[in-house]
Amino acid sequence: MLRNDLLEEWDRENFLHPSTHLAEFARGNAPQRVIRSGSGSHIEDRDGNRLLDAFAGLYCVNVGYGRPEIAEAIAEQARELAYYHAYVGHGTEASIQLSKMILDRAPDHMSKVYFGLSGSDANETNVKLIWYYNNVLGRPEKKKIISRWRGYHGSGLMTGSLTGLELFHKAFDLPLAPVLHTEAPYYFRRADVSMSEEAFVAHCAAELEALIEREGAETIAAFWAEPMLGTGGIVPPPAGYWEAIQPILKKHDILLVADEVVTGFGRLGTMFGSEHYGLEPDLITIAKGLTSAYAPLSGSIVSEKIWKGLEQGTDAMGPIGHGWTYSAHPIGAAAGVANLELIDKLDLVTAAGETGAHFNRALAEALGDHPHVGEVRGEGMIAAVEFVEDREARAFFDPARKVGPQIAAALLERGVIARAMPQGDILGFAPPFCLTRAEAEEVADKTAAAVRAVLG
Ligand code: PLP
Repeated sequence: MLRNDLLEEWDRENFLHPSTHLAEFARGNAPQRVIRSGSGSHIEDRDGNRLLDAFAGLYCVNVGYGRPEIAEAIAEQARELAYYHAYVGHGTEASIQLSKMILDRAPDHMSKVYFGLSGSDANETNVKLIWYYNNVLGRPEKKKIISRWRGYHGSGLMTGSLTGLELFHKAFDLPLAPVLHTEAPYYFRRADVSMSEEAFVAHCAAELEALIEREGAETIAAFWAEPMLGTGGIVPPPAGYWEAIQPILKKHDILLVADEVVTGFGRLGTMFGSEHYGLEPDLITIAKGLTSAYAPLSGSIVSEKIWKGLEQGTDAMGPIGHGWTYSAHPIGAAAGVANLELIDKLDLVTAAGETGAHFNRALAEALGDHPHVGEVRGEGMIAAVEFVEDREARAFFDPARKVGPQIAAALLERGVIARAMPQGDILGFAPPFCLTRAEAEEVADKTAAAVRAVLG
């Protein structure tokens, strides 16, 4: 085994880490942590620190760490057939079985699944499928896509454009022209404090419709959204939001893409977020929870309506010109099958709903009265605490104070990992579904202690 000091040196010299302050890291001024192992809701680093991971990696290790069933399935697949491609009709037992398992769980009107590797590439696939679809239907001008400010859809060129967070645009020449952004359904951060929730929903709907009318519905292909805002702040939609948005999309013949990379496979206590909020998407993006991140795998689930377009297109033009070498990678597919079987066997979707509700209550009890806690919110096994300078005036802290990151650091010192969300002083939680009630209470209590340590 390599010595810790050597690893540290090699890491700083050679490794360009994602979403990291590159210069500070290389200089040795930003934290470094080498993770060695994981079990249940905990991970352990090379220094022997055992940490309760209340963000399940990046909200992805949904079944928890160290599951032998998934590890065995991966090993067996690697021994038998580590790789074969999925082009021109090739498959493996695992990829075929997994397609069926996904469609069995997806809303009834969904028809087929295309496999990728990451949430970003699955969203990229969905953009291409939609453009292809509209070309097949003879409406080549219907190509623009609307997403929401604070939406997160990945960090590629189109997907980074769909993402509505400044950090992901700045100095990358994004967003690209076909992407437009509309109001985030973020009631707590509404511009007008006196606005009721109902009026705010009407405002979001009116903003969307005004944008569509300004641009011309004949130029707009799709509306892209997470059922519940994730990386942009972990914000459940205000009551009535989806009921107000979906009829506008239908009226203007605009497709709905539900990005379920976080919400898919149980995080909200239902198999899909679409089910939870009554969405009727034309395409669904899946990743993280599909394999609980035991291997990289994502998917684009297409509805019967989109499928008809793809069928018509390939009949007219021949094979579709879209594919990755690693589409439906057998090891990812084997991990996916074992993961979904485990979720069923242990009834982890129900657990996410029930323990998640307990966790949300525990957080609200531990933090709700703190003068610098503006809001505690969540749904199922996902939650956030948003900090404010002045609760009455709903005034936010100066971002330069880095209140969110300071609290996350204080919590880490107490042995719990939560995520300082990238925009705003917001602490995010998305624990594995196997979190126990005692662990949920531990996270809530330690968070309260960390908040007191930083904010008094
Ligand atoms: N969509 C959503 C909703 C996400 O939360 C993420 C990642 O966090 C992505 C897409 C991008 O997935 P990936 O990082 O696997 O490319």
